[in-house]
Amino acid sequence: MGVMRVRKTGELFPGAHEPLVNKQVFDRVQMILEGKTVDRVVRHDFTFRRMLRCTGCERSLIGELQKGHVYYRCQTRQCPTKTIREEIVDSAVSRMLSLLELGPHELEHATQWMRNAHTDEHAYREKELQAATLRLDSVRSRVHRLTDAFIDGLLEKTLFEQRKNALVGEEGETREMIQRLNGGSSIGLQQMEEFLELVKNAPFVYKHANAAEKREMLRSLVSNLRVTDRNVSLEPKPGVHILINRPRIAYGAPSRGVHRTWNGILEALLKVFTASSDERQPSIKTLKAAA
Ligand SMILES: [Zn+2]
Repeated sequence: MGVMRVRKTGELFPGAHEPLVNKQVFDRVQMILEGKTVDRVVRHDFTFRRMLRCTGCERSLIGELQKGHVYYRCQTRQCPTKTIREEIVDSAVSRMLSLLELGPHELEHATQWMRNAHTDEHAYREKELQAATLRLDSVRSRVHRLTDAFIDGLLEKTLFEQRKNALVGEEGETREMIQRLNGGSSIGLQQMEEFLELVKNAPFVYKHANAAEKREMLRSLVSNLRVTDRNVSLEPKPGVHILINRPRIAYGAPSRGVHRTWNGILEALLKVFTASSDERQPSIKTLKAAA
């Protein structure tokens, strides 16, 4: 939650380098002045809007339609990154998703493992509750330390407020988590189950999803989509990373070995989802970028 708030302010006040008239408006005015016909602007829902970041200047690429093709363009003039075609991004995403797809044997193991885990759910829940309580304590003492630093004049006001807001957001999130855990089930198991549900048919779901659904899907699977020149690189989230790099099961492999391998994979996944709320914490770097 903290991250989103900080990011939003960052985008609302994009800094002093911003030209007074944005390039699109400027271009349209030029076209009208030159007497070229200007079609009414048709709003197009660009699939990757605000999701592609230019490696050169760290800004979002902006979608545009050209002769029936969608391109994303970096708006920074001096940048080596100019445009990237939507198909290139789309196929990079599909390639990643196909690595996530679970085979029938894998699915069988995962389903059985989840079933067993649910019978021990209270044990998982207790562990998560302990971790969440520790985290709440740590957030509180960080707020105190931060406030002390501010009072002692070691921190300027804007930075203090940003960090404090982030911590307040984290505190709220942790409280919410404790409440949910007290309500009964293990959040880690639940999130892991949703994740497995999402990835098991990922390529198929993605193929039939609309733009908004694709974005939603990507947000839960990758933390970054970066464009360098004409290439796109995806930074998978930790759970996705585990599945992409999992050992593949050969047909006819001895079942005891397969069992052990998959137990390892699923335990690693659960660890990710039990700790996943930490992932949302804004790093100092993000905060600086937004300042
Ligand atoms: Zn750029």
